[in-house]
Amino acid sequence: MTDFAAEAARLDAADPLAKWRAEFLLDEGVAYLDGNSLGALPRATPDRLAEVVRQEWGKGLIGSWNSANWIGLPQKLGTMIAPLIGAGGHEVIAADSVSVNLFKLIAAALAMRPGRKVVLSEPGNFPTDLYMVQGLEAQGLAERRLAGRDAVADALDDDVALLMLTHVHYKTGAMFDMAALTAKAHEAGALVLWDLSHSAGAVPVDLNGAGADFAVGCGYKYLNGGPGAPAFAYVAERLHDALQQPLSGWMGHARPFAFDDDYASAPGVDRLLCGTPPILGLSALQIGVNLMAKIGMEALVAKSRQLSEFTRAAMAGHVPELVCISPEDPAMRGSQLSYRHDHAYELCQALIARRVIGDFRAPDVLRLGFAPAYVSFADCWRAVSELRDILDSGEWQKPEYAERATVT
Ligand SMILES: *Cc1c(COP(=O)(O)O)cnc(C)c1O
Repeated sequence: MTDFAAEAARLDAADPLAKWRAEFLLDEGVAYLDGNSLGALPRATPDRLAEVVRQEWGKGLIGSWNSANWIGLPQKLGTMIAPLIGAGGHEVIAADSVSVNLFKLIAAALAMRPGRKVVLSEPGNFPTDLYMVQGLEAQGLAERRLAGRDAVADALDDDVALLMLTHVHYKTGAMFDMAALTAKAHEAGALVLWDLSHSAGAVPVDLNGAGADFAVGCGYKYLNGGPGAPAFAYVAERLHDALQQPLSGWMGHARPFAFDDDYASAPGVDRLLCGTPPILGLSALQIGVNLMAKIGMEALVAKSRQLSEFTRAAMAGHVPELVCISPEDPAMRGSQLSYRHDHAYELCQALIARRVIGDFRAPDVLRLGFAPAYVSFADCWRAVSELRDILDSGEWQKPEYAERATVT
């Protein structure tokens, strides 16, 4: 069998991205395979946040809305994120959470398709995506329809206003063909909304090339914006003039500081803003996105595939009792591998105790994420060899590993 330890050392030595790990503050001895859930802390973030707090807020006070251009940060972040997802700079804005952006864009899409009420998605989609549709359903505005991944195209009909899918599935890593499904939805007269939470910064995304209408995505996963970082939203330029969203807050007004009694939408994606932008969160996100932009999507994608292919082979060789549920073809999956095991929760806890951090997704999935900016091949090999040892020693059976924490 391949000597995976030696192979990992060889791949690390040849890795053009190896130098970027130093741009993150990761403790020695931690193999962090959960950057798909919460990205690591960029080295530059603490100082930047201290500067925003002490200088821009502490000294600049309210003047910093202008002098430090706080007011322009949502748009600035949008233009920085855009090239990572194949969008124009004026088509993306950073705001709110993914959930809130879903609400705004689902409602906007429904308003653009009068006479149609169905929002089509897949069962097992990320919970918040499905719940947000239910919220609109309870308001009498939407009707939720779910169809399995392979049946989703056939479930498109004249009632469907919006096809809403998560590009890379959070649990399995399976990736939809964005261009093909977008085209199918358009043929049926429906609009399309892609959730890029597990895509942005990890896999190739070409929203413009696919003809996508709307997208949302997450700031705290592969974009390394920090816990609860602002999310982003994309609207294709051709839809800007017709875009109407129900969270018509003052920051989405054409002239917020005119203090008019009546709402008038700001141009373009600016009208997706609702309340005052979170400047600390946006400042941290800016550092994370800037790093991704500097490394470049092409290099990130290439390394992501190498990492997951290496791990898949090593797992198959050394830990065959864990069943891989992610697609075999790296071009058909996100930057993760998911494994099914009856005791996945306990295995995950035992791994974490050994400072190999992956995560668990109910009911029985162990998920290993490969954030290519800072994960090494040695990290991946450690995950595999520690798993082998945890299984052989029976260490996973320790009672404390069966106790469930609030966040899993
Ligand atoms: C992480 C994630 C979210 C997160 O939504 P928030 O409102 O930002 O908490 C939404 N959708 C998907 C698919 C995700 O992976």
